Amino acid sequence: MGQTSKNIAIVGSGLVGTLLAIYLRQAGHRVTVFDRRPDIRTIEFSGRSINLAMSDRGWQALDGAGIGKEIRKMGIPMHQRAMHVNGKPVYYQKYGKEGEAIWSISRGILNRKMIDLAEAEGAVFRFNEKVWDVDLPTAALYTGETEKGEWEAYSFDHIFGCDGAFSRIRHKMQRRSRFNYSQDFIDVGYKELTIPPNPDGSHKLDKNAFHIWPRGSFMFIAMPNLDGSFTCTLFLPFEGPVSFEQLQTKEDIRAFFTEYFPNVTPVIDNLSEDFLKNPTSALVTIKCYPWTYWDKVALVGDAAHAVVPFFGQGMNAGFEDISRLMALMKQFGDDWERIFQVYQEDRKPNADAIAELSYRNFIEMSTRTADPDFLLQKKIERNFAQQYPEKWIPAYSRVTFSEQPYSEALAIGDRQEAIMKKIMEMPEIESRWDSPEVSQRILELLGDS
Ligand SMILES: Cc1cc2nc3c(=O)[nH]c(=O)nc-3n(C[C@H](O)[C@H](O)[C@H](O)COP(=O)(O)OP(=O)(O)OC[C@H]3O[C@@H](n4cnc5c(N)ncnc54)[C@H](O)[C@@H]3O)c2cc1C
Repeated sequence: MGQTSKNIAIVGSGLVGTLLAIYLRQAGHRVTVFDRRPDIRTIEFSGRSINLAMSDRGWQALDGAGIGKEIRKMGIPMHQRAMHVNGKPVYYQKYGKEGEAIWSISRGILNRKMIDLAEAEGAVFRFNEKVWDVDLPTAALYTGETEKGEWEAYSFDHIFGCDGAFSRIRHKMQRRSRFNYSQDFIDVGYKELTIPPNPDGSHKLDKNAFHIWPRGSFMFIAMPNLDGSFTCTLFLPFEGPVSFEQLQTKEDIRAFFTEYFPNVTPVIDNLSEDFLKNPTSALVTIKCYPWTYWDKVALVGDAAHAVVPFFGQGMNAGFEDISRLMALMKQFGDDWERIFQVYQEDRKPNADAIAELSYRNFIEMSTRTADPDFLLQKKIERNFAQQYPEKWIPAYSRVTFSEQPYSEALAIGDRQEAIMKKIMEMPEIESRWDSPEVSQRILELLGDS
């Protein structure tokens, strides 16, 4: 069903706002994007150049807008995890089936490109224009440089709040009765660090892997960049015996890396310098509801649902919001009230599910990936999945390499976990993990013998 062209505002020129701008322009709407920041294409990146893992849901949304091919040129496929456990050689775990990969892409570089692409479609960008207020019933926006200074007033047919985890648009919706909101910070923060390329420009580690150094309550990860460097993230508690609080001087930092991450000491000067220079940031899960105000205003991406980054799905989930919105626009045409209503009802349970899955993955990646029982369990699951690929798709693959709703992936994952708990209780499971009886028992528990 076609739509009448509307005058639409998007607040936020991040990844979600720019992709939405591209789609809305392609659907024939007038689009103005506001951002409080200067144009990211004109500024140098600071120490917060996060790398993102793009997976199937993200690619599906990009391909739907016809820009996936161009964006793939900016990324590096990672087919496997490289696990760096102290005292052991690096070992690899394939992410999915042959050919399945997640892609490492720099958030800043991707954002610049997406603004270019949205501009090329005809979206108008208004940078350095912070939205201070919104009138929900009339879809009016008020922008300006400072809260107390002069404000510019704009009016639109619809407004999309793509203004991130601390959304101003959501803040206004929050003042209404029966608006639910929660935010939960975890006790772990993160810092971005860099492993530079070799002098000849090559990568210092395997470039087609996502590198993880799991260390119990903390971990270090590294993702490849096209220029031969790796963007690394140290996830560490803010306080406690091994924590950011304890790492104040260059000596503290050197001792920390030498003890816990000995195979990165050749680049320790670089890491220590970055450590002192770059900010320590917090990680939050944000939930809210409703996400829309009649047919006027809708929240999309982190503004509606911010999750901790341990499943690599925040942006992917935001892109999937857009895919869903576009499908509903096609289905319901000019009935925006229905589009917004079905959008929020449909996406909310999935957003809650990916929040839960992301939090669980935080526990799994930091504490369980070095645990022998956990590794054995994964080995059994992989073995069974290879024998019966149609009966056992791991939760990670459902989330990362399919478009199955997150809520279903969570429910099936719970069922699989309960089955594996029983399997791990089988006598002598360590020695007969790949025996036919184990597979038979899994089949029975799946109700399929
Ligand atoms: C360490 C880390 C690692 C991550 N890794 C992954 C990953 O591997 N895979 C993945 O899919 N996701 C990942 N994410 C999540 C991902 O970064 C976010 O989900 C995604 O960037 C959200 O995009 P967004 O456009 O909704 O919000 P944002 O990127 O936050 O953009 C919001 C925009 O709104 C603007 N804005 C805010 N307020 C106003 C206002 N009042 N007026 C005007 N403009 C305003 C801001 O300046 C900003 O440009 C990670 C996140 C973190 C922190």
